[in-house]
Amino acid sequence: MAAAWDLRKAGHEVTIFESADYVGGLASGFKEPHWDWSVEKFYHHWFQSDSAMLGLIRELGLEDKVIFPRPYTVMLHKDKWYPFDSILNALLFPGLGFGLNKIRFGFVGLFLRLTKNWQALEKVTAHEWMMKYAGKQVYEQMWQPLLIGKFASYYKDVNMAWMWARIKARTTRLGTFEGGFQRFADLFAEKLRGMGVEIRLGAGIKSIKQDQASRSLSVDGEFFDKVLVTTSPSLLAKLCPSLPESYLKGLLELKSMGAVVMTLSLSHALSKDGYYWFNVPKEQGYPFLALVEHTNFVSSEHFGGDHIVYAGDYLELGHEYFSMSDEELLERFIPAFQKFNPEFKREWINKIWVHKTNYAQPVPLVGHSKNIPDIKTPIEGLYFASMSQVYPWDRGTNFAVEIGRRAAGMMG
Ligand SMILES: Cc1cc2nc3c(=O)[nH]c(=O)nc-3n(C[C@H](O)[C@H](O)[C@H](O)COP(=O)(O)OP(=O)(O)OC[C@H]3O[C@@H](n4cnc5c(N)ncnc54)[C@H](O)[C@@H]3O)c2cc1C
Repeated sequence: MAAAWDLRKAGHEVTIFESADYVGGLASGFKEPHWDWSVEKFYHHWFQSDSAMLGLIRELGLEDKVIFPRPYTVMLHKDKWYPFDSILNALLFPGLGFGLNKIRFGFVGLFLRLTKNWQALEKVTAHEWMMKYAGKQVYEQMWQPLLIGKFASYYKDVNMAWMWARIKARTTRLGTFEGGFQRFADLFAEKLRGMGVEIRLGAGIKSIKQDQASRSLSVDGEFFDKVLVTTSPSLLAKLCPSLPESYLKGLLELKSMGAVVMTLSLSHALSKDGYYWFNVPKEQGYPFLALVEHTNFVSSEHFGGDHIVYAGDYLELGHEYFSMSDEELLERFIPAFQKFNPEFKREWINKIWVHKTNYAQPVPLVGHSKNIPDIKTPIEGLYFASMSQVYPWDRGTNFAVEIGRRAAGMMG
């Protein structure tokens, strides 16, 4: 959609094919009839540093709808949750121990904020680098749980540039859109349609072929001068098997994690302290990585008084959660909810939804920059922009906008 915005403004005729019957992709949301706002299928927020996204929102004239509440992020130490949403709070976190550890934590954080040389950092794993410079205790308390949670069995293989990018590009203030991310996507689609962009919903593409005679591209039999694909790398490989062997191999060798997120509507608040984001130490036996009480970020008034909680995890494909029923997953999660609030009762649950995706988080290994597929593919007129190419940045809607607009610039 960001690419379509620029291409249409440059005078091109643009058609968007979307397989779902709504816009928004991974950042889309859903709504109960008595809710004013939608909730995201996969918890989402923006950072104040998301300049590509916030810049686009300004261009769309929607900046008055972006809000930056101040929610609490917390981290566990010896069965107690501690605030973890500012540098000061991080330094006060008891899990860091005393003296030298706090100094090392502070220096590592400062170095990563200041250095621009991610190319040096991608040559080493985050595991090795953090053990060396932050030290064992700091690494094991602060960084290792994050790596294990996000990357499971790949956690020792992820490069240090990934960690650098997270620390560099993220702020503690978190933002959202009035009405939810789906509202933003719908307003954006409305503006695009108003400019003459055709958006075809429920239009899943099956094949893209180059037509030698006309030198244009056939998208399921319809001809276009240029095509930008924004799906996962493996889906592009399926859609366009005539891509040269080396490009296809590059697409198929990229690793990524899937995600399973349960959303619960509750009659009571789960966190007694009003916490929003719980960094959950999965290695201590919790069945998910993040517990997010959305209505401690935006008011439950927008959801007819319902309290909205997400429990989510990044998982390797083939993990049992992908094949479990919603009810089986709930049975697995319920004992953990009681750890967050011993008074939690099953009767508090109004309704649950479970969303699953195979492609949620690219895994950047050592020396990853040489594995990034070019936006301009070897097939003339065919371009590709995905989460796997925003490296060294970590995936996010901000970088989806940035790469979409970069691709549009290349397409002319
Ligand atoms: C658990 C989770 C949490 C996240 N949290 C955040 C966050 O807090 N903040 C943030 O900014 N980002 C977050 N993200 C990342 C963010 O959702 C993505 O970076 C962003 O949505 C990527 O946009 P995209 O357009 O590249 O891809 P997608 O959103 O994946 O869009 C691809 C689109 O292609 C469509 N499609 C697929 N196949 C076909 C086909 N054959 N034909 C036609 N259409 C097709 C899909 O339906 C989809 O709409 C999160 C993601 C996950 C999974």
